[in-house]
Amino acid sequence: MKKHNFSAGPSILPQEVLKKTAEAVINFNHLNLSLIEISHRSKDFIEVMENARSLVKELLNLPEGYSVLFLQGGASLEFLMTAYNLLKIDGKAAYIDTGAWSTKAIKEAKLLGEVDIVASSKDKTYNYIPKNYTIPTGIDYVHCTSNNTIYGTQFKEFPKTDALLACDMSSDIFSRQLDFSQFDLVYAGAQKNMGPAGTTLVIVKDEILGKTGRKIPSMLDFQVHISKDSMFNTPPVFAVYTSMLTLEWLKNLGGVAAVEKLNEKKAALLYDEIDRNPHFKGFAAKEDRSLMNVTFNLTNENEKDTFDKLWNESNISGLKGHRSVGGYRASIYNAMPIESVQVLVNTMQQLEKQLG
Ligand SMILES: *Cc1c(COP(=O)(O)O)cnc(C)c1O
Repeated sequence: MKKHNFSAGPSILPQEVLKKTAEAVINFNHLNLSLIEISHRSKDFIEVMENARSLVKELLNLPEGYSVLFLQGGASLEFLMTAYNLLKIDGKAAYIDTGAWSTKAIKEAKLLGEVDIVASSKDKTYNYIPKNYTIPTGIDYVHCTSNNTIYGTQFKEFPKTDALLACDMSSDIFSRQLDFSQFDLVYAGAQKNMGPAGTTLVIVKDEILGKTGRKIPSMLDFQVHISKDSMFNTPPVFAVYTSMLTLEWLKNLGGVAAVEKLNEKKAALLYDEIDRNPHFKGFAAKEDRSLMNVTFNLTNENEKDTFDKLWNESNISGLKGHRSVGGYRASIYNAMPIESVQVLVNTMQQLEKQLG
């Protein structure tokens, strides 16, 4: 029996996507060749890349003037590419520090220039999203992390700024409706809510590029990738194909609006139980709670062995919290069925019944 997979990443994908991918690895498009042994310049693969890119535009309702790329190197390489492509020589960037991933983004940007950390929630182990901060003038861009995978916090409103706005959406892209015209650069590693590890989605507003005065290495230059239709070098064909299937699955489900409703329902089911059940307490500040990563702790740590045994018996996998936060983290990405969330809720109620 398949497990209820609450892994934070790489994470759950729709069953039908896994089946279709498995088929394509053996026999792609009835070519009697594998997806991963044909030329990426073949008509069949170019169709995959173009379909994936246009599904992103359609599902996110992107305005005109944005390019969509499927790159490699993970969100971690985008930490550096963001600065290479947006930070002017002698320029300055503003970062909002909402956790470990933001911190890593800041570290890379500092290699290329001045970074102003305009707000941070480090004082409370990143359990909230900072508000009421001032963004200085004269900066090139503001960077934020929309969903903080480790801590279970999520921006509900994004910084208002005249500078460019860059956002790491690795763990909540395609999970809710957003006005993308407020962003100039968005990136997301595929392995949280879109596909397997190995590709990173980049969405960038064309007109902002080429203005830093820097010499950018080809592989790090968004304009190079755009000019080659996301095929400057061999793309990660397996990861792009699987991502395309997930995007098709999402479209058939009714798109982002439909999945957002489901995500809200799943999250409410679980947060309601955390708030109701005296054995548990939520980690993230209520108003900043993530719809994707639900973090919680036992009120009495001595109940750990009992609860761990219970959820293991319930066929649940991947519930352990990140080492920096402890406790539990239930990642309930798009592909997670509400039935699995119900199994977790039932298991939490079982603990209450057993221990009173
Ligand atoms: C997982 C994650 C990353 C790191 O992604 P890689 O693809 O492993 O580099 C960055 N940011 C956020 C918000 C993440 O959840």
